[in-house]
Amino acid sequence: MTLPPSLLDRSVTDPDVKATYAVDESVGAIAPDTFEVVRARDLGDVVDVLTHAQATGTPVVPQGARSGLAGGSVALRGGIVLSLAGLTDITELDPVEATAVVQPGVLNADLKAAAAAEGLFYPPDPASSAFCTIGGNVATNAGGLCCVKYGVTADYVRGLQVVLAGGEVIRTGRRTAKGVAGLDLTGLFVGSEGTLGVVTEVVVKLVPAPDPALTALATFGSLSAASDAIVALRRERHRPSLLELLDDVSIAAVQAVSDFGFPGDCAAVLIVSADRPGHTGEDIARYAGLLEAAGATEVAVADDAQESDALLAGRRALHHGLVAKGTHFIEDVCVPVQRLTELITAGHEIAARTGVEISMSGHGGDGNLHPSFFYDPADEASRHRAEEAFGELVAVTLSMGGTITGEHGVGSLKARWLPDEVGAASLERQRAVKALFDPRGILNPGRVYWS
Ligand SMILES: Cc1cc2nc3c(=O)[nH]c(=O)nc-3n(C[C@H](O)[C@H](O)[C@H](O)COP(=O)(O)OP(=O)(O)OC[C@H]3O[C@@H](n4cnc5c(N)ncnc54)[C@H](O)[C@@H]3O)c2cc1C
Repeated sequence: MTLPPSLLDRSVTDPDVKATYAVDESVGAIAPDTFEVVRARDLGDVVDVLTHAQATGTPVVPQGARSGLAGGSVALRGGIVLSLAGLTDITELDPVEATAVVQPGVLNADLKAAAAAEGLFYPPDPASSAFCTIGGNVATNAGGLCCVKYGVTADYVRGLQVVLAGGEVIRTGRRTAKGVAGLDLTGLFVGSEGTLGVVTEVVVKLVPAPDPALTALATFGSLSAASDAIVALRRERHRPSLLELLDDVSIAAVQAVSDFGFPGDCAAVLIVSADRPGHTGEDIARYAGLLEAAGATEVAVADDAQESDALLAGRRALHHGLVAKGTHFIEDVCVPVQRLTELITAGHEIAARTGVEISMSGHGGDGNLHPSFFYDPADEASRHRAEEAFGELVAVTLSMGGTITGEHGVGSLKARWLPDEVGAASLERQRAVKALFDPRGILNPGRVYWS
């Protein structure tokens, strides 16, 4: 596939640079042998790519920062990677309306910083905040560490500008605080993983800034005691702004990277934060009491924001710790919080029976864990066992009324399980919606909807 002359000056020709656009952070992603890369400089570039792609039936993979963990932004053979990473303007920030208008390549952390400068807060907080883009966050409906109190990306997207296959530019949603005119097309695009259109502008809602959070870290002798503590904290009228769980495998992996002060002999760690304006000290003391009552063996409470950061540092290092530990599949299951203990028990049972080492950590306060299944990449049988164990946990999750993906998206890696979750009839309706927006199937084909 060759690009038309009109797109050549925006394309990447150096093979080494091009190769950096080939894969995302998902495990086992393989770079295709032929693909083109176009780095969009403005809306017109996106329109040009989608006009050309529609006319020629060329697959397009929209791409932000390639931090995705589900294989949704991996280049496709013979396709065009359309990078939105260069569109980095925050074009408006309205402190009265409490909204911002941003281009898709703005980093999550940069939007947070711009909002904070106006005394406002953009809550969605993926652990990849420093390097992932708002476009990617919208496309995956990203969650993160603050969802237990603040919700996910969808809760903060008011409106979008989207370029459809064929190059038509549409607007969805609204800028105003309220609005119920027509169907919620914004909601349809949020979480659609680049399969319906390319997001070129996002109107986000901001909220008043909370106080700097105070954090507590508790150790537990059993994972079930830790998940009981999560349930108790979820009942709180003033809910924690963060509630994260690490199991013993994760704690050891993190400690192997650097000494974050985690004891070596505990089964689980819970990290809890309070950010309610004027009440952080009162709230964190109450949470500490609940952690002790649930059976925590030790509870450390930060006195200030700096100590809080120190208590959170180990959690922030989790991804790197697990990567350093070894090759693994990373799951993203989410169950009703009251069933967290059952999920964790099932994970341990699968690990004991199959011999696959599994870590069970993540956003415990949402019932959203990222179990990791370790295997030896040089041993096909070991990889197969890990895949089978992974499939077993998915089945358990669905039997509990849970979902195959809480926040990373379906992408390529989870597509085979989507029919199990949504059912054949719903899948057909979803395919019909996709066909309405993308009749030639050029947008991220093969992702989400397994063919
Ligand atoms: C260390 C680490 C920690 C992470 N922690 C979290 C976490 O806590 N919570 C969480 O939810 N995720 C997390 N992630 C996953 C990832 O960061 C998120 O999925 C993020 O939203 C992806 O953003 P991106 O800019 O990297 O998008 P990409 O990876 O480039 O793309 C992701 C998907 O969005 C589509 N897409 C990208 N931009 C556009 C656009 N403008 N229009 C249409 N479609 C588009 C792509 O086609 C792809 O399907 C983590 C990843 C890493 C590596």
